[in-house]
Amino acid sequence: VLPVVPTAPDAETAELPAIIGGSVLESDEVSAWFGSHKVLAGISLKMEAGQVTALIGPSGCGKSTFLRILNRMHELVPSASLAGRVLLDDDDIYEPVRRITDTRKRIGMVFQKPNPFPAMSIAENVTAGLKLTGTRVRGGERTALIEECLTKAGLWKEVKDRLNSPGGALSGGQQQRLCIARSLAVRPDVLLMDEPCSALDPTSTRRIEETIHELRREVTIVIVTHNMQQAARVSQTCAFFLAEQGTPGVIVEAGETKKIFSTPEDPRTADYVEGRF
Ligand code: ADP
Ligand code: MG
Repeated sequence: VLPVVPTAPDAETAELPAIIGGSVLESDEVSAWFGSHKVLAGISLKMEAGQVTALIGPSGCGKSTFLRILNRMHELVPSASLAGRVLLDDDDIYEPVRRITDTRKRIGMVFQKPNPFPAMSIAENVTAGLKLTGTRVRGGERTALIEECLTKAGLWKEVKDRLNSPGGALSGGQQQRLCIARSLAVRPDVLLMDEPCSALDPTSTRRIEETIHELRREVTIVIVTHNMQQAARVSQTCAFFLAEQGTPGVIVEAGETKKIFSTPEDPRTADYVEGRF
């Protein structure tokens, strides 16, 4: 149906590598409001370990809001409210006994615009999240962690000789990989990515996609993307969000990415993935 989608051979043909980490994240009938404006209705979606789940759909249908609900950033907006449950390995992250910082440590977020701390060194950027979560690492352990996370983010070779340079001196694509390294340093179970490549050039985009492909073995990945070819390349599961004419966003269809792109059930999904709106 979509002949222009060049699926990466590794993503298509390679066997799913052994899963060594990640958690199951599940939304159960999640609805969301800003004041009285309902923006999401009844979102139920299971995001599996070892997989990349792509959230697609036109702008304004609530994808970013849903992502922020998944790591409790939604509640930072004063007018925001929500209903439903979000389960991380079967535990409701919104139960009053759970601390926000514990949840955020387990569920990291990477944003559209790379946001490293520009004046901090590359090395300090990687460990910055640890301070926020109260984790202490020192000396050799810290050095090893910095190398490990930069390697996983595909940035180590490019920056190993200038770890003390400011993060702000890197290119946009490198800054985004630095942000991924910073997220990984707290050893999250889930990584949420909100259009992580929209501000980047094609080469940087490809590097990030390769990073995502490797990372899914150890962290559950949920990515919002406007780029259908990217969704087809990086994800195994796909959810199509839509908000029709003043109604809140819903999931029209979710399932195996291959099926969503080749034989979708809903005509609206076909129209969207084939670029008709
Ligand atoms: P998407 O990421 O799919 O483009 P968003 O989640 O950003 O969609 O937005 C969904 C709806 O929620 C839109 O109607 C948007 O205007 C509204 N919205 C998003 N953030 C806020 C906010 N902080 N306050 C009020 N309305 C918001
Ligand atoms: Mg958005």
